[in-house]
Formats: sequence, C-alpha cells, structure tokens
Amino acid sequence: MLQQTQVNTVIPYYLRFMDRFPRVTDLASASTDQVLHLWTGLGYYARARNLHDAAKTIVTQHRGRFPSSVLELMQLRGIGKSTAGAIVALAMNTRAPILDGNVKRLLARFHKIEGWPGRAKTNRQLWELAESKLPERDIAKYTQAMMDLGATVCKRSKPACEECPLIDDCEARRHNLIASIPGKKPRKTLPVKSIAMFILQNDAGEVLLEKRPPSGIWGSLWSLPEAAHPQDTIDLPYPGLELKNKRELSKIRHSFTHFHLEIIPVHLCAREKTGAVMDSQSWLWYPLNSSGKTS
Ligand code: SF4
Repeated sequence: MLQQTQVNTVIPYYLRFMDRFPRVTDLASASTDQVLHLWTGLGYYARARNLHDAAKTIVTQHRGRFPSSVLELMQLRGIGKSTAGAIVALAMNTRAPILDGNVKRLLARFHKIEGWPGRAKTNRQLWELAESKLPERDIAKYTQAMMDLGATVCKRSKPACEECPLIDDCEARRHNLIASIPGKKPRKTLPVKSIAMFILQNDAGEVLLEKRPPSGIWGSLWSLPEAAHPQDTIDLPYPGLELKNKRELSKIRHSFTHFHLEIIPVHLCAREKTGAVMDSQSWLWYPLNSSGKTS
C-alpha cells in the first residue's frame, strides 16, 4: 500500500485490510472483488491484484511461509528488488540494499549523482552505492534510517539540510546542486486517447456496470460500458433493453503515466423489457445510494 501512497492515507486502509485478511491464507482464499473493494479509493489497483496473487503463490508454492531471500521474494508478483530488499532488511534483519524513491534522492544528493534515476546508467550507479554502504550489523535500523532521512529530511523540495546528520559531507550541498538533483525525467508529450463512457440509468435509478478484463487499465474493476465514440452502438449482452434520451455530458480528462484519457460521458435512460437475461458475472445494475459492500 505504501508504494506510491503516503502513510497517513494508507493507515485506515491498512487497518481495514488486516482486520478482514489477518492471515495470508485469508487473503489467498478471498475473491478479487473482495480484495479490490477494500482497496477502493487508494488507486493503483495493480498493487491489490499483485498482493492477492502473491498471497496465493505463498500459500500454494511456499506452504504459507513467507520466502526469506531477495531472489525468492522477487518471484512474487509486484515485488521488485527494492521492495524485496526492504522486506529482508526490515522483517528479517538480513543484509540487502533498498532503493526506493526517498533513498534514491538521498544517495544521489549526498554523492552528487546528477542524471535522471530512470536512466539505466544512473540507476546502476545508485544501486552500486546502495550496496556499498550497507553496514555489517543493525541492517534493519540502517534501512529504516535511510528511508526516514529521505522522506522527512532530504525532501524533494526544501530539504531540511540544517537538521541533516550528513550535512558536512554532502556533495550536492557543497556544489549548490540540491535543486537539480536528482535529475528530472526528460519531458515528452503524452498521447491523448479518447473514449465514450455510457451512463445507463434505469427507472430505479441504478446504473449499469461492466466488469473489466483482469489486465489493462482498471483491471477487474466494475466500470461504465464504453465505446470508441458517443454515436457508437453499445455492445450489451442484454437484448431487452430500450435506450432513450441520449445526452452527451462535458468531457473529463484523466492522466495516466503513459497517456491522457479523454472521456466523453453519455447519459441514457434504460428501460427493461420483459424476459431480458444478463450475464451476472460481468454485468450488474448498481444502486447509486449503495454502500458498495461486496459479499
Ligand atoms: S545535506 Fe541536505 S541535500 Fe544533503 S543529504 Fe542532507 S538533507 Fe539531503
């Protein structure tokens, strides 16, 4: 949960999640909907699917015991080298380097590594430094200290250098380069994609939702039916539905890492004729005043 999200935001989600899934076996046996429901609002839903998948792997391939080496941990979906290093160092007090965003910034400034950390060469340099600095003992304390120093002192903007224990040897400070390290990602113009999303509302005020495929954006989440253009026919497995009062609403723009998505919402009134049958695994009428509980 803490990948890409701050601690204060995560705490209530974490508590609810642990209350519902106290053991890895509870998480492994839950449905995708149950897991995603407890993640609703946190964003980056791939993390939830990865965590769920990792729990299943731990149960089926490791007999419910958490793997203890960086290499084994990296076989679990969603766990990269830095997260694996953090688990090994913090939970098992075993030597392993980490390189999360905060530690990258701290090391880059302290050693005046000027390139963008996303570049392979800069990334390699930072990993070498992270490994070379590892102490022989107290690895958990060292790792926590590096993460905290990066997060609370060597902050992205306005680092609190006067409170930093490394101030005397910091190369970025010595060369007045703090503002430009770490180097910025080269800017490029993101492509814009456009889709129409259909808000089909029935007489009871419910809205029709479709379950998305497991991979791709918003994977496995319930979403409004969509098509390339507002004038397109919606592909509904629901022959007995009469649609009328079509109305285009104002566009919404949502930005992802690799593209901008322009959404054209289209509102339609839907009236059910008799005898209509729906595939309940993939479609549902969602009451707008629902608390959203899943069973
Ligand atoms: S002296 Fe300032 S820039 Fe250097 S490591 Fe400390 S907080 Fe970061």
